[in-house]
Amino acid sequence: MPDGSLPPSPPAGAPARPLRDADALAAAGLLPAAGLPALRAVAARYAVSVTPAMAALIDPADPADPIAAQYLPHPAELEATAQEREDPIADAPHTPVKGVTHRYPDRALLKPLLACPVYCRFCFRREQVGPGGGVLDEAELEAALDWFAAHPGVREAILTGGDPLMLSPRRLRHIVARLSAMPHIEIIRLHTRVPVADPARVTAAMAEALDTETALFLLLHANHAREFTQDARAALRRLSRAGVALLGQSVLLRGVNDSPAAMEALLRAMLANRVKPYYLHQLDRAPGTARFEVPIAEGRALLEGLRGRVTGLAWPTYALDLPEGQGKAPIGPDFAERRDGGWQVRGPLGGDHFQPDAPPPA
Ligand code: SF4
Repeated sequence: MPDGSLPPSPPAGAPARPLRDADALAAAGLLPAAGLPALRAVAARYAVSVTPAMAALIDPADPADPIAAQYLPHPAELEATAQEREDPIADAPHTPVKGVTHRYPDRALLKPLLACPVYCRFCFRREQVGPGGGVLDEAELEAALDWFAAHPGVREAILTGGDPLMLSPRRLRHIVARLSAMPHIEIIRLHTRVPVADPARVTAAMAEALDTETALFLLLHANHAREFTQDARAALRRLSRAGVALLGQSVLLRGVNDSPAAMEALLRAMLANRVKPYYLHQLDRAPGTARFEVPIAEGRALLEGLRGRVTGLAWPTYALDLPEGQGKAPIGPDFAERRDGGWQVRGPLGGDHFQPDAPPPA
């Protein structure tokens, strides 16, 4: 919020359940009835869900509403470009057993389910995620956990999906306990949108399920300052009290957070809610997402303009996931250039500085 106050929790009269198709969104006044046939076709292709918490934040009178842009289906989603890929970061070829993705030597993903509280229109796994989709059954989950137990080189288990906080606290507690019992697992990481998109799911039982001896980092996906409601703040506080370290990740999105004011507000809202911004992702080119893409040069300039204006705590790593599963690379901005005999460094407050190389040891 511009004045720093938090938006309210869903008001009386807000929908009680997630809105899961174009007709429900139109009935709630969030989509125009005129465009329904085209939007039904989009919803038949890609999952739709808008939680009461997010529906309450949308201003239906604003055609450029940044919350609506993230969640409401759009006819352009059925127009794929030649550069878009169904599996843009190539999860599939790096899947040794169902539910596990192993790309880097020291860490691996565990995807216990592919359901989310909301379905983001720019999601890089949009071909896989959906309600009721891809839940590992008991045997598959145990096989996936056995894979982690059998790989002592893997030090970090990353729970993602889908959204692992869509699991029951009981099932989550079981997964966390099994991973924590593996001596080589030093870090458990959990990727989620639940604390902002459906904060009521973050109950005391959920927080207790994440309370473990092993270092546990929760990576909150949020893209706009307005997503940090009073309920989201309470949910994050609950997690923080359980000893969960909170980091933030966002996607740079046209019309959502691509202005200096929107990006600054987002980074400040994260920090004010105890969430350290960690990654700002360049959009992955999933089918039908081109309208969200911000050129890399623009993204670098956006961050460069914030350096020195906002605390260094707010600074995320701007990163691109390379195709074919080649990993994530930082893409700037850079402040240092190699020159003869040293480095030319641009200062965040405008001044330049030449830092000569240290003399060789005598
Ligand atoms: S919450 Fe994450 S996995 Fe789910 S639709 Fe959004 S971006 Fe995709």
